[in-house]
Amino acid sequence: MDIDTIAAISTPLGEGAIGIVRISGPEAINIIDQIFQSPSEKKLQEVASHTIHYGHIYDPKEQKTIEEVMVSVMRAPKTFTREDVVEINCHGGLLSVNRVLQLVLTHGARIAEPGEFTKRAFLNGRIDLSQAEAIMDLIRAKTDKAMTNAIGQLEGRLSKKIKRLRQELLEVLAQVEVNIDYPEYDDVEEMTHKLFKEKALYVKSEIEKLLETAKQGKILREGIKTVIIGRPNVGKSSLLNSFVHENKAIVTDIPGTTRDVIEEYVNIHGVPLKLIDTAGIRDTEDVVEKIGVERSRQVLREADLILFLLNNNEPLTEEDIHLFDTIEGMDAIIVVNKVDLPQKIDFNEIKRMARGRKIVKISVKDDKGIEELETMISNMYMAGNLEADDLTYVSNARHIGLLNQALQSINDALDGIGMEVPIDIVQIDMTKTWELLGEIIGESVHDELINKLFSQFCLGK
Ligand code: GDP
Ligand code: ZN
Repeated sequence: MDIDTIAAISTPLGEGAIGIVRISGPEAINIIDQIFQSPSEKKLQEVASHTIHYGHIYDPKEQKTIEEVMVSVMRAPKTFTREDVVEINCHGGLLSVNRVLQLVLTHGARIAEPGEFTKRAFLNGRIDLSQAEAIMDLIRAKTDKAMTNAIGQLEGRLSKKIKRLRQELLEVLAQVEVNIDYPEYDDVEEMTHKLFKEKALYVKSEIEKLLETAKQGKILREGIKTVIIGRPNVGKSSLLNSFVHENKAIVTDIPGTTRDVIEEYVNIHGVPLKLIDTAGIRDTEDVVEKIGVERSRQVLREADLILFLLNNNEPLTEEDIHLFDTIEGMDAIIVVNKVDLPQKIDFNEIKRMARGRKIVKISVKDDKGIEELETMISNMYMAGNLEADDLTYVSNARHIGLLNQALQSINDALDGIGMEVPIDIVQIDMTKTWELLGEIIGESVHDELINKLFSQFCLGK
């Protein structure tokens, strides 16, 4: 199959100021030579690999200089895609970067599909699938910790773990193969069972460990889904605003005016919160509001953390008590707002209803207690968990799904061993575990999945 040459605008991570046009493929250097002029008139075909060159991009048809640039030339195979790669660093604005890209396209490159560079890196064996996915996570990372985790995965930490597990499985499968071939030995059946059981138990515990990190991984990746609930007018939107320090949610004195669900990302002492303000979870006849309320209930079901707001200035109502029931069994902090106003709420009653959950007094108006609330939240999620940087967090839904399937098949294998079923049946389950783990790092995955995964990437990556 003929490999064509692709190009796209790609900005380096964390830097938005300069634009890079990246070209990859067999024609990359040939293309740049048609439109690049260096002061020394050297051709980039002749320069050494991994060198950078100053010059101008020139439109031969219009006979016009377009942009002052630095061009990096990197020859296969020591490049990201393992193809010839040329990167044109343009310091002009978006417009000039676009003009450079257009020229590259009219001189023989085709525009890259989203994620196509990364896909080529994967297909050419430069990175494995979990590393490719880490690149996607990096681009989307919202906090330093999420980024550190993605980098860890990019460095292949998860891949190494999975590879080691697969190797262990392979060894025991090979050993069993030998045993089956020489059934005349004594005790072969018994030995094989013992060997299988040992390995299966080990693999099982390793998979379980990885799955345990999944919750933390999800938090790092997506943020802690935090829902602010409470009766109308207790100060939900005000609290959200105070967290966000921006006035995105509508604050008003008329009860029930926050009709829709509002989401904001905030970084609380390094813990990413995905804050959700709801339209007041309560029964209502109002149709417009009902849509909001339906969605609120849905959101509540998916929440990791509830901030339940009460009004210090009013006695507990039926509705408050109903909300206490609604959050039964969920992680929640009871937040008593408006402590700047005279106390009319009964704290003994709240303590009883809270059932051991933390209670904090705040005044959004006077900016009191917010810091205490923030510390409370970060302590809930930091406590020894997220701090352990050396842990390999599994955060990708596809990986979690496959690990769960692998766990299932290793459990099947163990059941088989327990019931002393014939060894070749156990072997099937062990092989399946080996295959499922392989899918995580992209061994034994089919084209369809690969296309689907890479189409989610950003352009130019
Ligand atoms: P929501 O309906 O729960 O979202 O409540 P809002 O955030 O819209 O607040 C309702 C009203 O309470 C607004 O007039 C706010 O200014 C006011 N409010 C919010 N927090 C405080 C507070 O700590 N003290 C006082 N006195 N008023 C507050
Ligand atoms: Zn993007």
